[in-house]
Amino acid sequence: MTVVQGVASDEGADRKMPPGVLLEGPVVDAKFLDSYIAFGFMIGGSIAALIWAFWQGIGRVEVAVFVGMFLLTTVGIGFMHRYFVHRSFRCGPVMRTIFAAIATLAVQGSILKWVSNHRRHHLHSDKPGDVHSPYYDGAGNRFASFAKGMMHAQGGWVWDQATTDGEYYARDILADPISMYFTRTRWYWYALSAVIIPGAIGYAFGGVHTMIGCILFSGLFRSYIMTMATSLVNSVCHSDGRWGYRRFDSNDGTTNELVTTILTFGEGLHNNHHRFPRDAYISHAWYEIDVNGLIILGLGKLGLVHDIFSARSRTQSSGDGAKASAPETEATV
Ligand SMILES: [Zn+2]
Ligand SMILES: [Zn+2]
Repeated sequence: MTVVQGVASDEGADRKMPPGVLLEGPVVDAKFLDSYIAFGFMIGGSIAALIWAFWQGIGRVEVAVFVGMFLLTTVGIGFMHRYFVHRSFRCGPVMRTIFAAIATLAVQGSILKWVSNHRRHHLHSDKPGDVHSPYYDGAGNRFASFAKGMMHAQGGWVWDQATTDGEYYARDILADPISMYFTRTRWYWYALSAVIIPGAIGYAFGGVHTMIGCILFSGLFRSYIMTMATSLVNSVCHSDGRWGYRRFDSNDGTTNELVTTILTFGEGLHNNHHRFPRDAYISHAWYEIDVNGLIILGLGKLGLVHDIFSARSRTQSSGDGAKASAPETEATV
């Protein structure tokens, strides 16, 4: 649990873009359009939700829908991360469709975009080329201050010109009809999550007034807050030991951090995760509560998912070090 100093040194900070990064063209334009529309609605809706909450008040229905949708999409991002990015288990097309649906309901970009960005993040973790490091911007320039870096990692990276190329990082996603169906229809799922489902529940339980409160507070505001909670993994859990602790010495600034771990159902055990990126269950102690990992293990017991990956069990059972490390490398790129 030592703190590694000077994780992101200036060494190697050349400005040359690594392969798989686009700086102009239709993919970059499409990314900015997606970001403007999604964050425009979420931030505009959040401001309206706060005004509505003070002006009209928020009732039990709005709070219940907020909590329910927050929990559902937090599990969804768990599957986005551990299944679609890291392939930490296998499943059939029905379960893959369910995972793709709740992952897209999180309003954090399409499966293709999320997977591509996260694989690039692992490959260049806290080095030039990382998508959302607190140490370097998209062009590989070191941030002048820790605060600026934290703001980039927490949300500013979405507006960076450097755009991840899905053709380079996510050919498996491009070849999967289910993932690509949800990538193409993402806006319908965003609308369902942020407007239609909360609005319908609100109308059913309290009429038009509750419907408006649910859309603003439990739909748009919740989508934004939930995205900010996930982003704590990029900022707080890459803080080089300022927050949280490091179980494993690694060549980046990753930490395990309690509050982020609670809010993200286990994703905040990020130092563990960078050390063993393909593990489905990332807790290494009784006090490291990995809810998303427990859900995957539970689905395995029910027979709904299979071939759940664990680097530790492979190392212990086969004693074949080369075999144990190979899938780790494969999973990160
Ligand atoms: Zn990370
Ligand atoms: Zn990861």
